[in-house]
Amino acid sequence: MRKVTIFGATGSIGCNTIDLIERDRENYEIVALTGGRNIAKLAQQAISLNAEIAVTAYEDCRDDLRDALAGTGIEVAAGEAALCDVADRPAHWIMSSIVGAAGLAPGLKALEQGTTLALANKESLVTAGALLLGTADAHGAKVLPVDSEHSAVFQALVGEEMEAVERVIITASGGAFRDWPMEKLANATLEAASSHPNWDMGQRITIDSASLFNKALELIETHEYFGIAPDKIEAIIHPESLIHALVGFHDGALMAHVGPHDMRHAIGYALNWPARAELPVERLDLAKIGSLNFKAPDEARYPALRLARWVMEEGGLAGAVFNAAKERALDGFIDGRIGFLQMAQIVENVIEKMSGDGLGLAAITLDTVQDADHMARTYADEFMAIR
Ligand code: NAD
Ligand code: MG
Repeated sequence: MRKVTIFGATGSIGCNTIDLIERDRENYEIVALTGGRNIAKLAQQAISLNAEIAVTAYEDCRDDLRDALAGTGIEVAAGEAALCDVADRPAHWIMSSIVGAAGLAPGLKALEQGTTLALANKESLVTAGALLLGTADAHGAKVLPVDSEHSAVFQALVGEEMEAVERVIITASGGAFRDWPMEKLANATLEAASSHPNWDMGQRITIDSASLFNKALELIETHEYFGIAPDKIEAIIHPESLIHALVGFHDGALMAHVGPHDMRHAIGYALNWPARAELPVERLDLAKIGSLNFKAPDEARYPALRLARWVMEEGGLAGAVFNAAKERALDGFIDGRIGFLQMAQIVENVIEKMSGDGLGLAAITLDTVQDADHMARTYADEFMAIR
Protein backbone atom coordinates (compact mmCIF):
# COMPACT_ATOMS: atom_id res chain seq x y z
CA MET A 1 0.00 0.00 0.00
CA ARG A 2 1.50 3.36 -1.02
CA LYS A 3 0.78 6.34 1.16
CA VAL A 4 0.20 9.47 -0.91
CA THR A 5 -0.37 13.17 -0.20
CA ILE A 6 -1.52 15.72 -2.78
CA PHE A 7 -0.86 19.44 -2.34
CA GLY A 8 -3.23 21.41 -4.56
CA ALA A 9 -5.59 18.44 -4.96
CA THR A 10 -8.47 20.57 -6.22
CA GLY A 11 -6.52 22.07 -9.13
CA SER A 12 -5.98 20.83 -12.64
CA ILE A 13 -2.86 18.76 -11.82
CA GLY A 14 -4.38 17.60 -8.53
CA CYS A 15 -7.54 16.30 -10.26
CA ASN A 16 -5.50 14.51 -12.93
CA THR A 17 -3.42 12.89 -10.19
CA ILE A 18 -6.57 11.74 -8.41
CA ASP A 19 -7.92 10.36 -11.67
CA LEU A 20 -4.89 8.05 -11.94
CA ILE A 21 -5.03 7.02 -8.29
CA GLU A 22 -8.74 6.23 -8.47
CA ARG A 23 -8.09 3.75 -11.29
CA ASP A 24 -5.76 1.81 -9.01
CA ARG A 25 -7.49 2.61 -5.74
CA GLU A 26 -6.68 -0.57 -3.79
CA ASN A 27 -2.94 0.17 -3.97
CA TYR A 28 -3.12 3.62 -2.39
CA GLU A 29 -3.79 5.07 1.00
CA ILE A 30 -4.42 8.84 0.99
CA VAL A 31 -2.76 10.75 3.80
CA ALA A 32 -3.55 14.43 3.08
CA LEU A 33 -5.37 16.40 0.40
CA THR A 34 -5.01 20.18 0.31
CA GLY A 35 -6.88 22.90 -1.52
CA GLY A 36 -7.84 26.55 -1.41
CA ARG A 37 -11.33 28.04 -1.45
CA ASN A 38 -13.12 25.32 -3.38
CA ILE A 39 -14.27 23.57 -0.21
CA ALA A 40 -17.03 21.52 -1.85
CA LYS A 41 -14.52 19.90 -4.18
CA LEU A 42 -11.90 19.32 -1.48
CA ALA A 43 -14.49 17.70 0.79
CA GLN A 44 -15.83 15.52 -2.02
CA GLN A 45 -12.29 14.35 -2.89
CA ALA A 46 -11.44 13.67 0.76
CA ILE A 47 -14.60 11.60 1.22
CA SER A 48 -14.30 9.64 -1.99
CA LEU A 49 -10.62 8.81 -1.33
CA ASN A 50 -11.12 8.38 2.43
CA ALA A 51 -8.24 10.76 3.21
CA GLU A 52 -6.78 10.95 6.68
CA ILE A 53 -6.87 14.79 6.66
CA ALA A 54 -8.10 17.61 4.41
CA VAL A 55 -6.44 21.03 4.60
CA THR A 56 -7.54 24.36 3.17
CA ALA A 57 -4.84 26.99 2.74
CA TYR A 58 -7.20 29.66 4.10
CA GLU A 59 -8.08 30.07 7.79
CA ASP A 60 -11.43 31.67 6.93
CA CYS A 61 -12.46 28.47 5.12
CA ARG A 62 -11.85 26.21 8.12
CA ASP A 63 -15.47 26.19 9.38
CA ASP A 64 -16.89 25.43 5.95
CA LEU A 65 -14.49 22.51 5.55
CA ARG A 66 -15.29 21.24 9.05
CA ASP A 67 -19.04 21.38 8.28
CA ALA A 68 -18.59 19.65 4.94
CA LEU A 69 -16.65 16.79 6.57
CA ALA A 70 -18.70 16.53 9.79
CA GLY A 71 -19.32 12.91 10.78
CA THR A 72 -16.83 11.46 8.28
CA GLY A 73 -13.94 11.02 10.74
CA ILE A 74 -11.67 12.92 8.34
CA GLU A 75 -9.45 15.43 10.14
CA VAL A 76 -9.63 19.09 9.13
CA ALA A 77 -6.99 21.83 9.25
CA ALA A 78 -6.53 25.31 7.76
CA GLY A 79 -3.84 27.89 7.06
CA GLU A 80 -0.29 28.04 5.75
CA ALA A 81 1.25 26.46 8.85
CA ALA A 82 -1.18 23.54 8.62
CA LEU A 83 0.03 22.90 5.04
CA CYS A 84 3.59 22.51 6.33
CA ASP A 85 2.40 20.35 9.22
CA VAL A 86 0.79 17.79 6.93
CA ALA A 87 3.91 17.75 4.74
CA ASP A 88 5.51 16.10 7.76
CA ARG A 89 3.07 13.16 7.86
CA PRO A 90 4.79 10.06 6.49
CA ALA A 91 3.99 9.41 2.84
CA HIS A 92 5.83 7.45 0.12
CA TRP A 93 4.91 9.91 -2.64
CA ILE A 94 3.85 13.55 -2.42
CA MET A 95 2.46 15.60 -5.29
CA SER A 96 3.42 19.29 -5.18
CA SER A 97 0.77 20.96 -7.31
CA ILE A 98 -0.04 24.19 -5.52
CA VAL A 99 0.23 27.11 -7.96
CA GLY A 100 2.82 29.81 -7.21
CA ALA A 101 5.56 30.41 -4.66
CA ALA A 102 3.17 29.21 -1.93
CA GLY A 103 4.18 25.67 -2.93
CA LEU A 104 7.78 26.09 -1.78
CA ALA A 105 7.49 25.80 2.02
CA PRO A 106 5.32 22.63 2.05
CA GLY A 107 7.57 21.10 -0.64
CA LEU A 108 10.68 21.69 1.45
CA LYS A 109 8.99 20.23 4.51
CA ALA A 110 7.95 17.16 2.51
CA LEU A 111 11.54 16.60 1.35
CA GLU A 112 12.77 16.69 4.94
CA GLN A 113 10.99 13.39 5.54
CA GLY A 114 13.06 11.81 2.75
CA THR A 115 10.08 11.12 0.49
CA THR A 116 9.60 11.31 -3.29
CA LEU A 117 8.26 14.71 -4.31
CA ALA A 118 6.53 14.84 -7.69
CA LEU A 119 7.05 18.47 -8.64
CA ALA A 120 4.45 20.22 -10.78
CA ASN A 121 5.04 23.42 -8.80
CA LYS A 122 7.76 24.82 -11.08
CA GLU A 123 7.81 28.03 -9.03
CA SER A 124 9.68 26.28 -6.22
CA LEU A 125 12.55 25.41 -8.57
CA VAL A 126 12.55 28.90 -10.07
CA THR A 127 12.55 30.67 -6.72
CA ALA A 128 14.81 28.32 -4.74
CA GLY A 129 16.19 25.54 -6.94
CA ALA A 130 19.43 25.05 -5.02
CA LEU A 131 17.62 25.03 -1.69
CA LEU A 132 15.00 22.53 -2.88
CA LEU A 133 17.46 20.10 -4.48
CA GLY A 134 19.96 20.58 -1.62
CA THR A 135 17.23 19.68 0.89
CA ALA A 136 16.36 16.59 -1.13
CA ASP A 137 20.02 15.49 -1.17
CA ALA A 138 20.49 16.15 2.52
CA HIS A 139 17.52 13.92 3.42
CA GLY A 140 17.86 11.19 0.79
CA ALA A 141 14.66 12.42 -0.89
CA LYS A 142 13.93 12.45 -4.62
CA VAL A 143 12.41 15.25 -6.71
CA LEU A 144 10.73 14.06 -9.93
CA PRO A 145 9.67 16.55 -12.60
CA VAL A 146 5.99 16.70 -13.57
CA ASP A 147 6.02 19.67 -15.93
CA SER A 148 5.54 17.94 -19.31
CA GLU A 149 8.72 19.37 -20.88
CA HIS A 150 10.87 18.43 -17.91
CA SER A 151 9.37 14.98 -17.60
CA ALA A 152 10.20 14.62 -21.32
CA VAL A 153 13.84 15.69 -20.80
CA PHE A 154 14.08 13.42 -17.75
CA GLN A 155 12.84 10.47 -19.82
CA ALA A 156 15.18 11.27 -22.73
CA LEU A 157 18.12 11.25 -20.30
CA VAL A 158 17.50 7.75 -18.92
CA GLY A 159 20.74 5.79 -19.34
CA GLU A 160 22.65 8.78 -20.80
CA GLU A 161 25.77 10.57 -19.55
CA MET A 162 25.20 14.26 -18.75
CA GLU A 163 28.63 15.05 -20.30
CA ALA A 164 27.24 13.95 -23.66
CA VAL A 165 24.39 16.49 -23.53
CA GLU A 166 25.01 19.38 -25.90
CA ARG A 167 21.66 21.14 -25.63
CA VAL A 168 18.10 20.87 -24.40
CA ILE A 169 15.19 22.23 -26.40
CA ILE A 170 11.81 22.72 -24.75
CA THR A 171 8.79 23.37 -26.91
CA ALA A 172 6.14 26.06 -26.49
CA SER A 173 2.71 25.98 -28.07
CA GLY A 174 2.85 29.77 -28.34
CA GLY A 175 -0.30 30.05 -26.21
CA ALA A 176 -3.60 31.74 -26.95
CA PHE A 177 -2.09 34.61 -28.97
CA ARG A 178 0.45 32.84 -31.12
CA ASP A 179 -1.24 34.02 -34.33
CA TRP A 180 -2.15 37.53 -33.15
CA PRO A 181 -0.37 40.56 -34.62
CA MET A 182 1.73 42.49 -32.08
CA GLU A 183 -0.56 45.60 -32.22
CA LYS A 184 -3.53 43.56 -31.03
CA LEU A 185 -1.74 42.10 -27.99
CA ALA A 186 -1.91 45.33 -25.97
CA ASN A 187 -5.69 44.99 -25.83
CA ALA A 188 -5.85 41.25 -25.21
CA THR A 189 -8.65 40.48 -22.75
CA LEU A 190 -8.53 38.26 -19.69
CA GLU A 191 -11.05 35.92 -21.28
CA ALA A 192 -8.98 35.50 -24.44
CA ALA A 193 -5.75 34.97 -22.46
CA SER A 194 -7.44 32.33 -20.30
CA SER A 195 -8.15 29.89 -23.10
CA HIS A 196 -5.32 27.66 -24.26
CA PRO A 197 -5.29 26.21 -27.78
CA ASN A 198 -3.90 22.79 -26.75
CA TRP A 199 -3.93 22.20 -22.99
CA ASP A 200 -6.62 22.36 -20.32
CA MET A 201 -4.88 23.86 -17.26
CA GLY A 202 -5.41 26.23 -14.34
CA GLN A 203 -6.11 29.87 -15.26
CA ARG A 204 -2.77 31.27 -14.08
CA ILE A 205 -0.55 28.93 -16.08
CA THR A 206 -2.84 29.37 -19.09
CA ILE A 207 -2.30 33.15 -19.07
CA ASP A 208 1.43 32.57 -18.46
CA SER A 209 1.42 30.40 -21.58
CA ALA A 210 -0.01 33.25 -23.66
CA SER A 211 2.66 35.69 -22.42
CA LEU A 212 5.36 33.00 -22.59
CA PHE A 213 6.10 33.65 -18.91
CA ASN A 214 5.36 29.96 -18.45
CA LYS A 215 8.10 29.11 -20.94
CA ALA A 216 10.40 31.60 -19.22
CA LEU A 217 9.81 29.81 -15.89
CA GLU A 218 10.46 26.51 -17.67
CA LEU A 219 13.82 27.65 -19.10
CA ILE A 220 14.89 28.49 -15.56
CA GLU A 221 13.38 25.23 -14.30
CA THR A 222 15.47 23.30 -16.86
CA HIS A 223 18.62 25.11 -15.77
CA GLU A 224 17.93 24.49 -12.07
CA TYR A 225 16.73 20.91 -12.23
CA PHE A 226 19.18 19.43 -14.74
CA GLY A 227 22.11 21.79 -14.02
CA ILE A 228 22.44 22.64 -17.71
CA ALA A 229 24.18 25.90 -18.69
CA PRO A 230 21.81 28.66 -19.88
CA ASP A 231 23.40 28.85 -23.34
CA LYS A 232 22.60 25.18 -23.91
CA ILE A 233 18.87 25.63 -23.25
CA GLU A 234 16.52 26.73 -26.01
CA ALA A 235 12.78 27.24 -26.39
CA ILE A 236 11.08 26.69 -29.73
CA ILE A 237 7.50 27.38 -30.83
CA HIS A 238 5.83 24.11 -31.81
CA PRO A 239 2.12 24.77 -32.32
CA GLU A 240 1.06 21.10 -32.21
CA SER A 241 2.56 20.61 -28.70
CA LEU A 242 3.17 16.92 -29.43
CA ILE A 243 6.93 16.98 -29.00
CA HIS A 244 7.41 18.15 -25.42
CA ALA A 245 11.19 18.47 -25.39
CA LEU A 246 14.31 17.30 -27.19
CA VAL A 247 17.74 16.49 -25.83
CA GLY A 248 20.70 17.01 -28.18
CA PHE A 249 23.81 14.87 -27.66
CA HIS A 250 27.37 15.51 -28.83
CA ASP A 251 27.12 12.84 -31.53
CA GLY A 252 24.45 15.00 -33.19
CA ALA A 253 21.46 12.89 -32.12
CA LEU A 254 18.30 14.59 -30.91
CA MET A 255 16.08 12.47 -28.66
CA ALA A 256 12.54 13.81 -28.81
CA HIS A 257 9.73 12.94 -26.43
CA VAL A 258 6.41 12.72 -28.28
CA GLY A 259 3.02 12.31 -26.64
CA PRO A 260 -0.56 13.58 -26.46
CA HIS A 261 -1.62 16.77 -24.60
CA ASP A 262 -2.51 15.00 -21.41
CA MET A 263 -0.79 15.75 -18.12
CA ARG A 264 -1.67 12.26 -16.88
CA HIS A 265 1.34 11.04 -18.87
CA ALA A 266 3.90 13.13 -16.94
CA ILE A 267 2.04 12.63 -13.63
CA GLY A 268 1.81 8.88 -14.25
CA TYR A 269 5.50 8.68 -15.13
CA ALA A 270 6.39 10.33 -11.80
CA LEU A 271 3.86 8.17 -9.94
CA ASN A 272 5.25 4.90 -11.27
CA TRP A 273 8.93 5.83 -11.71
CA PRO A 274 11.29 4.12 -12.28
CA ALA A 275 8.78 1.72 -13.88
CA ARG A 276 6.41 2.60 -16.72
CA ALA A 277 2.80 1.70 -16.00
CA GLU A 278 0.00 1.48 -18.54
CA LEU A 279 -1.73 4.88 -18.68
CA PRO A 280 -5.19 5.90 -19.94
CA VAL A 281 -3.88 8.47 -22.45
CA GLU A 282 -4.60 8.72 -26.17
CA ARG A 283 -2.25 6.84 -28.52
CA LEU A 284 -1.09 9.19 -31.29
CA ASP A 285 -1.92 8.43 -34.90
CA LEU A 286 1.09 9.97 -36.66
CA ALA A 287 -0.27 9.53 -40.18
CA LYS A 288 -3.38 11.45 -39.14
CA ILE A 289 -1.28 14.20 -37.56
CA GLY A 290 0.71 14.44 -40.81
CA SER A 291 3.17 17.20 -39.97
CA LEU A 292 4.84 18.95 -37.08
CA ASN A 293 5.88 22.61 -37.25
CA PHE A 294 8.58 24.64 -35.53
CA LYS A 295 9.37 28.34 -35.37
CA ALA A 296 11.97 30.37 -33.47
CA PRO A 297 10.35 32.55 -30.78
CA ASP A 298 10.61 36.31 -31.29
CA GLU A 299 12.10 37.83 -28.12
CA ALA A 300 10.75 41.29 -28.98
CA ARG A 301 7.28 39.79 -28.92
CA TYR A 302 8.02 37.73 -25.82
CA PRO A 303 10.23 39.75 -23.41
CA ALA A 304 9.67 37.07 -20.75
CA LEU A 305 12.23 34.84 -22.51
CA ARG A 306 14.87 37.58 -22.46
CA LEU A 307 14.19 38.19 -18.75
CA ALA A 308 14.55 34.46 -18.04
CA ARG A 309 18.05 34.57 -19.58
CA TRP A 310 18.95 37.37 -17.17
CA VAL A 311 17.67 35.30 -14.24
CA MET A 312 19.72 32.25 -15.25
CA GLU A 313 22.90 34.33 -15.65
CA GLU A 314 22.37 36.21 -12.40
CA GLY A 315 21.40 33.20 -10.25
CA GLY A 316 20.93 33.49 -6.47
CA LEU A 317 17.71 35.28 -5.57
CA ALA A 318 17.04 36.53 -9.12
CA GLY A 319 14.55 33.71 -9.70
CA ALA A 320 12.61 34.57 -6.53
CA VAL A 321 12.39 38.23 -7.63
CA PHE A 322 11.39 37.33 -11.17
CA ASN A 323 8.72 34.87 -10.09
CA ALA A 324 7.21 37.11 -7.41
CA ALA A 325 7.08 40.15 -9.73
CA LYS A 326 5.47 37.94 -12.37
CA GLU A 327 2.88 36.60 -9.89
CA ARG A 328 1.92 40.15 -8.82
CA ALA A 329 1.80 41.42 -12.40
CA LEU A 330 -0.42 38.46 -13.27
CA ASP A 331 -2.71 39.37 -10.33
CA GLY A 332 -2.79 42.90 -11.78
CA PHE A 333 -3.80 41.62 -15.22
CA ILE A 334 -6.45 39.30 -13.74
CA ASP A 335 -7.88 42.19 -11.65
CA GLY A 336 -7.93 44.47 -14.69
CA ARG A 337 -5.35 46.92 -13.28
CA ILE A 338 -2.84 46.47 -16.11
CA GLY A 339 -2.92 45.32 -19.73
CA PHE A 340 -1.47 42.12 -21.14
CA LEU A 341 1.82 43.61 -22.38
CA GLN A 342 2.32 45.58 -19.18
CA MET A 343 2.93 42.38 -17.23
CA ALA A 344 6.41 42.03 -18.75
CA GLN A 345 7.08 45.76 -18.26
CA ILE A 346 6.27 45.51 -14.55
CA VAL A 347 8.53 42.49 -14.14
CA GLU A 348 11.33 44.30 -15.96
CA ASN A 349 10.84 47.42 -13.77
CA VAL A 350 11.13 45.30 -10.62
CA ILE A 351 14.23 43.52 -11.92
CA GLU A 352 15.87 46.86 -12.79
CA LYS A 353 15.02 48.20 -9.35
CA MET A 354 16.42 45.17 -7.50
CA SER A 355 19.25 44.04 -9.77
CA GLY A 356 21.81 46.26 -8.00
CA ASP A 357 21.11 44.55 -4.67
CA GLY A 358 23.63 41.73 -5.14
CA LEU A 359 20.84 39.22 -5.84
CA GLY A 360 23.16 36.76 -7.55
CA LEU A 361 25.51 36.52 -4.58
CA ALA A 362 22.93 36.14 -1.83
CA ALA A 363 22.58 32.92 0.17
CA ILE A 364 19.40 31.00 -0.65
CA THR A 365 17.44 30.08 2.45
CA LEU A 366 13.68 30.01 2.94
CA ASP A 367 13.98 33.36 4.78
CA THR A 368 16.06 35.15 2.12
CA VAL A 369 13.80 33.79 -0.63
CA GLN A 370 10.66 34.92 1.17
CA ASP A 371 12.17 38.37 1.85
CA ALA A 372 13.15 38.83 -1.81
CA ASP A 373 9.71 37.58 -2.86
CA HIS A 374 8.03 40.08 -0.52
CA MET A 375 10.19 43.01 -1.73
CA ALA A 376 9.52 42.17 -5.38
CA ARG A 377 5.75 42.03 -4.77
CA THR A 378 5.87 45.40 -2.99
CA TYR A 379 7.78 47.02 -5.88
CA ALA A 380 5.46 45.40 -8.43
CA ASP A 381 2.47 46.91 -6.61
CA GLU A 382 4.18 50.34 -6.59
CA PHE A 383 4.92 50.18 -10.31
CA MET A 384 1.35 49.07 -11.07
CA ALA A 385 -0.07 51.91 -8.96
CA ILE A 386 1.69 54.57 -11.08
CA ARG A 387 0.39 53.19 -14.36
P1 NAD B 1 -4.78 25.28 -10.49
O1 NAD B 1 -4.99 26.72 -10.34
O2 NAD B 1 -5.71 24.48 -11.30
O3 NAD B 1 -4.68 24.60 -9.04
C1 NAD B 1 -3.88 25.14 -8.03
C2 NAD B 1 -4.07 24.43 -6.71
O4 NAD B 1 -3.33 25.14 -5.71
C3 NAD B 1 -5.50 24.39 -6.21
O5 NAD B 1 -5.71 23.23 -5.45
C4 NAD B 1 -5.58 25.63 -5.30
O6 NAD B 1 -6.57 25.52 -4.32
C5 NAD B 1 -4.21 25.59 -4.68
N1 NAD B 1 -3.74 26.92 -4.26
C6 NAD B 1 -3.84 28.08 -4.97
N2 NAD B 1 -3.25 29.09 -4.28
C7 NAD B 1 -2.79 28.54 -3.12
C8 NAD B 1 -2.08 29.07 -2.00
N3 NAD B 1 -1.76 30.38 -1.92
N4 NAD B 1 -1.75 28.24 -1.00
C9 NAD B 1 -2.07 26.92 -1.06
N5 NAD B 1 -2.74 26.35 -2.09
C10 NAD B 1 -3.09 27.16 -3.11
O7 NAD B 1 -3.28 25.11 -11.04
P2 NAD B 1 -2.68 23.94 -11.94
O8 NAD B 1 -2.89 24.28 -13.36
O9 NAD B 1 -3.10 22.62 -11.42
O10 NAD B 1 -1.12 24.16 -11.67
C11 NAD B 1 -0.51 23.72 -10.46
C12 NAD B 1 1.00 23.80 -10.61
O11 NAD B 1 1.40 22.88 -11.63
C13 NAD B 1 1.52 25.17 -11.06
O12 NAD B 1 2.78 25.38 -10.50
C14 NAD B 1 1.66 25.01 -12.58
O13 NAD B 1 2.62 25.87 -13.11
C15 NAD B 1 2.09 23.56 -12.66
N6 NAD B 1 1.78 22.92 -13.95
C16 NAD B 1 0.49 22.77 -14.33
C17 NAD B 1 0.19 22.15 -15.54
C18 NAD B 1 -1.25 21.92 -15.97
O14 NAD B 1 -1.46 21.25 -16.97
N7 NAD B 1 -2.23 22.40 -15.26
C19 NAD B 1 1.22 21.69 -16.37
C20 NAD B 1 2.54 21.86 -15.94
C21 NAD B 1 2.81 22.47 -14.72
MG1 MG C 1 5.11 22.81 -19.11
